[in-house]
Amino acid sequence: MMKKGLAWLGMALLLLSLPARAVVILQYHHVSNSTPASTSVTPAQFQTQMTYLSEQGFNVISLETALTAIRAKQALPAKSVAITFDDGYQSIAANAHPILRQHGFPYTVFVNVAPIEQGYRNIMGWETLRQLSRQGATIANHSYQHDHLIRQQAGEDDLAWQQRIRTDIERTETAITEQIGHHLKALAYPYGEYNPALQNLLEQLGFAGIGQHSGAAGPYSNLTAIPRFPVAGPYADLNTLKVKLHSLNMPVVALDGAGSELIERRQPSLTVTLTGTDVRKRALMCYVQGQGAKAPQWLDDNTFSIQADLPLPAGRSRYNCTAPSLSQSGYYWFSQPWVQANSDGSWPQE
Ligand SMILES: [Zn+2]
Repeated sequence: MMKKGLAWLGMALLLLSLPARAVVILQYHHVSNSTPASTSVTPAQFQTQMTYLSEQGFNVISLETALTAIRAKQALPAKSVAITFDDGYQSIAANAHPILRQHGFPYTVFVNVAPIEQGYRNIMGWETLRQLSRQGATIANHSYQHDHLIRQQAGEDDLAWQQRIRTDIERTETAITEQIGHHLKALAYPYGEYNPALQNLLEQLGFAGIGQHSGAAGPYSNLTAIPRFPVAGPYADLNTLKVKLHSLNMPVVALDGAGSELIERRQPSLTVTLTGTDVRKRALMCYVQGQGAKAPQWLDDNTFSIQADLPLPAGRSRYNCTAPSLSQSGYYWFSQPWVQANSDGSWPQE
């Protein structure tokens, strides 16, 4: 009796000490043979990926379920995955939706209202989106016309910028609610770009902010800097994707220097504090986009910093840090995006 009780206690302690689980959010654009490889997967690749999720017992959950758990800091079931598409291309309805239906997977499409209203031929219209929404799709906000939201216009002060962007986000959400009935209150940042002012605005509006920086989301994620793994081009390969699907939410409890927009700060120093005992810290390694591996500098048992050796280029770049788990086979994965203008204040051409 005594022995059984102790065994049960041991099991309970083991469960308590297991790391909080993650949700891996996938980001797609086109599912097509005829669109640019850098933003596409082929229908055959997509079918392979969805079949892999089914056969390997992944829990494909809606983004709403994922965001609710992240907000409440609740653990998610092991192997949780959410599927998202940006920009609302026709190839989603034509090629992705039938495969998703076949597997019974929910998914989210982030749309821009202006191209829908202007009837762009490669963009799904409201009627198509309504049909998808009746069969497992959530329609959500990707801004009105896919502007670089963090950029202020000539002569615009902080308050005028905030009012313009608030109007942009609210009119998009209103159109989606009127046309589809959905109100997810989540913005997929156009180009994955955000800064503290935009994050503050989303917080005021009660919106989550979804980025394009890699990493597993979970209870340690900032609700206005939710990571996603882009799946396209070289990242559409199943072996590459497998590592990401098994990635874990890095237990980050404090970040210093994480203001994503760099102003007079071309070699940003980022300081990260971790919690718990499951991260294999001696094996933690970071990467500076375009500059390669960069070992972290440990400041104490739980805190490390990382800084690029060379100035980061204008436009978007990022730091990634990964570390093995002591108890599981997956890697903890954290990414910090950066965005900056040219030194004269102009922005690089896209
Ligand atoms: Zn987009």
